[in-house]
Amino acid sequence: MKRFYVVVSIPLLLAALIPIAASLFVAHRKAKDDQIAYLTSLADEVLRRGVASRQQLVAALNELDRDPHPPCSQASLTRMQQLVGTSFYLQGMGSVMDGTLVCSTLTLGSDLVPLTGNHMVTSTGISTWIGARLPFAPDQPFNIYARNGHAVIIHPGIVIDMPVLNADVSLGLLISAPQALIRAKGPLDAQWQSLNTPHANSQVENETHHIVFRASRENNIAAIAAAPKALAYGGLKTQALILAPLGLVASALFALGVAVLTRWQLSPRVRLRAAMRRRELFILYQPIVDLETGRWVGAEALLRWRRRSGTLVPPDEFIAEAEKAGIITLITRYVMDVVLADLPELLKARPGFHVSLNLSPQDLVADGPVQYLQRRFHAMEMPPGALMLEVTERGLVDVEAARPALQAARQIGASIALDDFGTGYSSLSMLESIDIDTLKIDRIFIASIGAQAVISPVTTHIIEMAKMLKLELIAEGVETQDQVDFLRARGVRQAQGWLFARAMPLHELLAGIRPQAASALHEESEGP
Ligand code: C2E
Ligand code: MG
Ligand code: MG
Repeated sequence: MKRFYVVVSIPLLLAALIPIAASLFVAHRKAKDDQIAYLTSLADEVLRRGVASRQQLVAALNELDRDPHPPCSQASLTRMQQLVGTSFYLQGMGSVMDGTLVCSTLTLGSDLVPLTGNHMVTSTGISTWIGARLPFAPDQPFNIYARNGHAVIIHPGIVIDMPVLNADVSLGLLISAPQALIRAKGPLDAQWQSLNTPHANSQVENETHHIVFRASRENNIAAIAAAPKALAYGGLKTQALILAPLGLVASALFALGVAVLTRWQLSPRVRLRAAMRRRELFILYQPIVDLETGRWVGAEALLRWRRRSGTLVPPDEFIAEAEKAGIITLITRYVMDVVLADLPELLKARPGFHVSLNLSPQDLVADGPVQYLQRRFHAMEMPPGALMLEVTERGLVDVEAARPALQAARQIGASIALDDFGTGYSSLSMLESIDIDTLKIDRIFIASIGAQAVISPVTTHIIEMAKMLKLELIAEGVETQDQVDFLRARGVRQAQGWLFARAMPLHELLAGIRPQAASALHEESEGP
């Protein structure tokens, strides 16, 4: 049974977990895409501002090239002040000679300022100092761009100072060739520049970060925006931590539910009840023959189960199952209903005919199927002697418990037979202590009777014992004439077996007993 639960549960668990895993995967993808889209928009904005400042500084340098006044002259400085005043990104201008700021609109009246910071000449021929310090604001880094002795001073913070969602998001503006960081905001790692080929747009990821590059080839600059991956997936992890166990519990419950339901549906109780409802259980009657006259004096009701698939389940199999499942009494009542419905017609065809019913040990209880039979039988006003009840030795292990049922049987004039006699453990004393009428000799003892076979001494013994106790005998499973001869020679009056007839439906039984009834009448009227 454990195996059953395992086999049912594994695919169900998988079926439930796969969608959870898939949705987490999709959520993971979406979180990544969202973060990259956000970083791209930041990088685009940094680049836009970088390009604008670049264009302004190049335009300003071009303008200064056209200015005819000598460097550092009053007229030149005035012109510079005008240009600074009309531009957004430029903070100052001046003149540079041999790496020294000789004069500027920001350092009026100061001495010469030797330029510090990271110096390079870019591919567009502009001599650039990144992070230069000026005497009036020694803690602020400035970028100074010079060409033909003219210089433009920019405070690079303007380009990059924009609000970001989280302090861990970092921005940067780069010169592409030679690669150099102009300005950074947030925890930007200078190493990341090398992840991008100059002038290319790209998005890359390393172990910890998503990094987006946007570049402008014409302006020789690029923007970079980066954010820790954890920022994107943090919420997701919590989601997964909640979703996965929840999903597991839900799917485990679901799997258990399905397993229990399947098991319930497969249980003998449910299957057999359904079989009764669908009328898959039916009765065949096997005639009981008088060995003297050859006439059918009774019939044993034998239960059959034809499943919807057409397969016939042998009663030995499903009766045992029903006994185990505790629903045999329901089945017995069902058999009783069928037999009671068939009985009037049978008795009409042959008065004195009897039908024999098999009872399981569980049927022999204080208020069980036998009492049910008794009530229905009375209500139908049936003649006594129309029924025989077959009990087994197993059913009589507790004689006291069985007594009320046996008494109820007596009250409707049913005779009681001990079925399968010889296969159980009945003792002589038990046979004396209970009120039975008939012994049915089990067919294994009858099978031992044959021309060549050694007849079991038990067979002879059973016959003698029955005679001694004045019990009727019915031999079961009679298949040969030798057996009939043997039984008749020892005074056995009745038998049942394939030699005479197999179990058959009611209409065949009726068809079989009607001509016999007619010939019996005939014999009687022609008698001496
Ligand atoms: P049983 O009461 O001893 O029934 C006699 C069995 O012997 C029947 O098997 C019958 O078909 C078979 N039989 C009859 N003549 C011959 C023969 O010449 N040769 C051979 N080899 N077999 C023969 P069946 O119908 O398969 O029933 C088996 C057992 O299932 C019955 O044995 C009885 O114990 C049980 N059973 C059948 N119907 C019911 C029922 O309605 N209620 C209960 N509680 N048990 C039933
Ligand atoms: Mg029987
Ligand atoms: Mg039997």
